[in-house]
Amino acid sequence: MFESLSDRLSGVLDKLTKQGALSDADVSTALREVRVALLEADVSLPVARDFIKAVQEKATGQNVTKSVTPGQQVVKIVHDEMVHFLAGDDANAGQLKIDNAPAPILMVGLQGSGKTTTTAKLAKRLAERDKKRVLMASLDTNRPAAMEQLAILGTQIGVDTLPIIKGETPVQIAKRAKQQATLGGYDVYMLDTAGRLHIDQELIQQAADVRDVTKPRETLLVVDGLTGQDAVNVATEFDDKIGVSGVVLTRMDGDGRGGAALSMKAVTGKPIKFVGLGEKMDALEEFHPERIAGRILGMGDIVSLVEKAQETIEAEQAEKMMKRFVKGQFNMNDLKGQLEQMQKMGGMEGIMGMMPGMKKMAKQVEDAGFDDSVLKRQVALIQSMTKKERANPAILQASRKKRIARGAGMEVSDLNKLIKMHRQMADMMKKMGKMGKGGMMKQAMK
Ligand code: GDP
Repeated sequence: MFESLSDRLSGVLDKLTKQGALSDADVSTALREVRVALLEADVSLPVARDFIKAVQEKATGQNVTKSVTPGQQVVKIVHDEMVHFLAGDDANAGQLKIDNAPAPILMVGLQGSGKTTTTAKLAKRLAERDKKRVLMASLDTNRPAAMEQLAILGTQIGVDTLPIIKGETPVQIAKRAKQQATLGGYDVYMLDTAGRLHIDQELIQQAADVRDVTKPRETLLVVDGLTGQDAVNVATEFDDKIGVSGVVLTRMDGDGRGGAALSMKAVTGKPIKFVGLGEKMDALEEFHPERIAGRILGMGDIVSLVEKAQETIEAEQAEKMMKRFVKGQFNMNDLKGQLEQMQKMGGMEGIMGMMPGMKKMAKQVEDAGFDDSVLKRQVALIQSMTKKERANPAILQASRKKRIARGAGMEVSDLNKLIKMHRQMADMMKKMGKMGKGGMMKQAMK
């Protein structure tokens, strides 16, 4: 089984434990495992192929950092690429268009996909989280039980449903829902269309007719995430025939690996907006590509692993930097990096407060009129320098200083203060280095 792709990757790659760049062979070995895993997760063959190709291009030649194994490195690349495949570049994928009240949302899908349940879950979410007034209506005239089901769920979650009138056609119900939503001052009305076991002409025609009279802001297709490839085929067909704006994948709490999710975006181009994670009314979640990626990879701790790898990489960079500082190679770029870091860490006071014995100094710095706007101004001055000047501040003579100060909209005296500070910091770094490993710098870098 595909229980742990991460273990598999590590197993294969860690035997290689070569340092340096990932070789073609390393990557190919790993990708064979990824491919099998994807196919086991019911990702379609063309999608798996495209995915592998994308990863291959990214992975080959990447440097393997000392602190992560080649396996971990490849896992990270696979994970990142998977997130990209799942989400595409659309940052607003999870948003619903529900402005212009009353906004119609058309819910479509096969019978048993979880359409009615999802309609109610989404209504609850819109009512509770987004404070919308929601009206739900069932258009399933073939199955009175389905209409009842929605009414019961409505009562349960405290969302209004359109009263059932026997003998109406779906289009008549849709029109009545629209009218009721308008008169009743609802923000959203949701239309739960009839489902069938298979896509047939009548079903499509019905949904298309309802679409034409209500002009939905969103047409959400509900598909069973456990059905893998079939889910993608269903989505393609619905989209061709009636056009969908987004997908809700249900039963993502089940045993399936969620391969459908990976194919869905790649094949249909439609964003997955929500995932269903159980039968309960609040078991609906916005789509998080990272979580699904973790699931497909079969590793619960992928995120922490990746983060750890990242941290280690950062720590290595910090260590490298420190080695240079200790040798007195602290240039303006380094200073800029430090200033920006300080801004992130809550300013001078914040960072110095973290260094043992520096609290007093932080106070002095503050008393000297050093606040966070100074940090920004100093960064601006450094940005105004040329590459050469940043790398070697010793060349900063009068004419260069004038140009830099003017460029940043400041005085030469401001620049002189910065240069002085740079020199003092460079000296301080050197001294700290001599104080030995585990000294203040290490603390500060954490
Ligand atoms: P419809 O025919 O498409 O309207 O499907 P229903 O909404 O009636 O759902 C069919 C069954 O699937 C019901 O028993 C639901 O409780 C269940 N169901 C729906 N969504 C989910 C989900 O995300 N996870 C799980 N485990 N069950 C779900």
